[in-house]
Amino acid sequence: MQASRIKLLPDHVANQIAAGEVVQRPASVVKELMENALDAQADEIKLIVKDGGKALIQVIDNGIGMNEIDARMSFERHATSKIADAKDLFQINTKGFRGEALASIAAVAHVELKTKQENSELGTYIRIEGSKVVSQEPIATQKGTSISVKNLFFNIPARRKFLKSIQVEMRHVNEEFLRLALAHPDIAFKLIHNGNIVYQLPKSNLLQRINNVFGAKIKEKLAPVSEETDYIKISGFIGKPEFAKRKRGEQYFFVNKRFIKSPYLHHALNSAYEGLIKDKSYPSYFVYFEIDPKHVDINIHPTKTEIKFDDEPTVYSILKVAAKHSLGQFNLSPSMDFDAKPELEVPYEYTKKTPVSPKINVNPDFNPFEEDMFAQKNKFSSKYYEKQLDKWEALHHDTIEMASQLDGNDTAVSNDNIQTELHSQLNAFLAPAFQFQNKFLVTYKGDKLLIIHQNRAHQLVLFNEMMQQLQQGATHSQQLMFPVELQLQPDEINLLKQQDDYLKKIGYDVNFSENTILINAVPLQQKSAETIAVFQEIIRNLSLDIPVDENAVLELFAQIIAEKLAVKSGQKLQQEEVDKLINDLFSLKSQMFSPKGKRIFVNLDTQEIDNKLM
Ligand code: ADP
Ligand code: MG
Repeated sequence: MQASRIKLLPDHVANQIAAGEVVQRPASVVKELMENALDAQADEIKLIVKDGGKALIQVIDNGIGMNEIDARMSFERHATSKIADAKDLFQINTKGFRGEALASIAAVAHVELKTKQENSELGTYIRIEGSKVVSQEPIATQKGTSISVKNLFFNIPARRKFLKSIQVEMRHVNEEFLRLALAHPDIAFKLIHNGNIVYQLPKSNLLQRINNVFGAKIKEKLAPVSEETDYIKISGFIGKPEFAKRKRGEQYFFVNKRFIKSPYLHHALNSAYEGLIKDKSYPSYFVYFEIDPKHVDINIHPTKTEIKFDDEPTVYSILKVAAKHSLGQFNLSPSMDFDAKPELEVPYEYTKKTPVSPKINVNPDFNPFEEDMFAQKNKFSSKYYEKQLDKWEALHHDTIEMASQLDGNDTAVSNDNIQTELHSQLNAFLAPAFQFQNKFLVTYKGDKLLIIHQNRAHQLVLFNEMMQQLQQGATHSQQLMFPVELQLQPDEINLLKQQDDYLKKIGYDVNFSENTILINAVPLQQKSAETIAVFQEIIRNLSLDIPVDENAVLELFAQIIAEKLAVKSGQKLQQEEVDKLINDLFSLKSQMFSPKGKRIFVNLDTQEIDNKLM
C-alpha cells in the first residue's frame, strides 16, 4: 500500500484560507468587529482607524466582555458562543454565528485583545500575530472589549498590494460604519480617522440618527413609511420625489437590523415613484423590515449582504403599497393624474416600439355634439369654458363617441384627423385657466387648485417633443438663411467636434475650422436667434462633464434647447397660449418635473384650503 496523501491542514493555514473569504479589506474587519460588539450588547461602540484601516482598526465596546478562557477560545476557528447546535441556525438573532471572524482576522494581521467582564477584577490581554499567540496576561482594563487589528495582510504581500488608496479604503470603512449606525440608532457610535472625529452619534431615535449622519436638512426631504402585517413590519423613511438625486445615494434596507442589498426590493420601491421622478434619478430611502427570523435565510456567504425571504413577492407588494401610501399621504404623488389615458400617450422612450392603436371606451349615451361643441372648440375663452365645463367633464370622465358618430356630422373634423382629434380632445384640459404674474398658470381639476410654473412646463413640453422625434429617428432641421458664426477656443471646438454625430442627430449642421464654427442648420423648434446661447451652454456643459452615452448627450442637448426656447418667467402669454401649454403639458405621461428635475406645479385641495382658513 502506498503512503496516504491526505493530511489535515495546519490551523494557521486553514485560517488563512478562511480569511480569504471573510477578510477582503479593512472594511470587512470593521464589520466583523463592530458586529461582535453589538452581539456583546454594547451600547457604546467606538471605531478608531488609521490610514483607511490599513495601519489600524480598533473597536472598543462596553459590552459583556469575555473571561480568560473565552478570550483565548474566541480566536479558534468555529468557536462561537452564539449557536450551540444546528437547530439554532433557524432562529438567528445575532449578527455573527459562524465563529470564523476572529480566527480569520488573527491569521492575517497583528491583533491585540483587551477584555473584561462586569464582575471580574482583572481582564485579559492577548496578542496574536498571524495565528500565533505571542502573549497572554491579566490586565487592568474597563468592562467590555477592545480589539485592535494592525498591519492587515502583513503576511500575505499579494493581498496587501491589492488594497486601494487610503481614501478608497476609508470610503468602504465609512459605509460599513454607517450601515451599522443606521441599523442601531439606540446605540452610541463614534468614528475617528487619523485622530479626527468623523462621526459622533449619540443614542437617539431613527430620524435623529439620520439627521446626525446626513445633516439636519435631510429631515425635510423624507416622508415616513410604515406598514404592518402578520408576516412583516415595515418602518422608516423614504425620500420625497423632488429630492431624488442623479447619483445613487442614501439607499438602505435593513432586515432585523441587518443591512441588506436587494435589487428586487429596490425595484419595488422605485416602482412606487413611477411618474414622480425622472428616469435615472434615485430616491433616498431608509427602510426597516422586521420579520420572524424563521422566514428569512441569512445563512449564506459571510460577506454577502443578500438575504432571502421565504415569500419574496409578498414583501415586494407590501413595500410598494407602503411606499405609495406614504407618497400619497404626504401629498407628493400626482394624486390627480388627470385621468391620464396612458395608452394614448407616446412617451418618447417607447416610440421605437411598434405603435399600438389607442383604445377608446364607448359610452353610447353620451353625445358630444349637442350644442355643436366641436364647432366651437377653438373658442378658448374663459366664458366658453365655464359654459361647457360640465359637458367637458362628462366627456373627459366618461368616454367619447366613436368615429362613426363623427361621420356625417357638421364639423370640421375630417376622417383622417379623427384619431388626432380624439386624442387631443381626450387630453384637452378642462377648467378655465389664467396667467398669474406673467409667471404661473392657474387652473383647477376636480377639487385641486393647480399653480403651474409656465417656464418649466414649457421646457418639459419642448424636451419631450424633441426626444420623441429623436427616438423616431426623424431629424427636423431647418437650413438657416444666414448661417451663424461663433468664435471659440480650439479645445472648445474639439469638445463639440467629438459630439458632431449627435449634433447632426438633433438637427444641427456645423462646419468646424480652427477657431470658428459655422452653424448652417438648427433643429426645427429652434429660432436662429437662440443659436449662440444654445451653443455656449452646450460647450459649458460639455467642459464640465461629457455625458456617458448617446442618449445622455441627446438629452443634454434637448434639455439645453428646451431651456433656451421655453417661454420665460415674466413673459405675457395670450389666452390661446395658456390653454395650449396646459393642454400640451397634461398630454404628457408625466408632468411632475422639468427636464432639469424641478417641480412643475403645486396643488392645493379643498381640504388644504379649508385648513388654511381655520
Ligand atoms: P461569531 O461572531 O460568529 O461567533 P467571531 O469569531 O466573530 O465569531 O467571535 C467568536 C466569539 O468571540 C463570539 O462568539 C463571542 O463569544 C466572542 N467575542 C468576539 N468579540 C467579542 C466582543 N466584542 N465582546 C464579547 N465577546 C466577543
Ligand atoms: Mg462575529
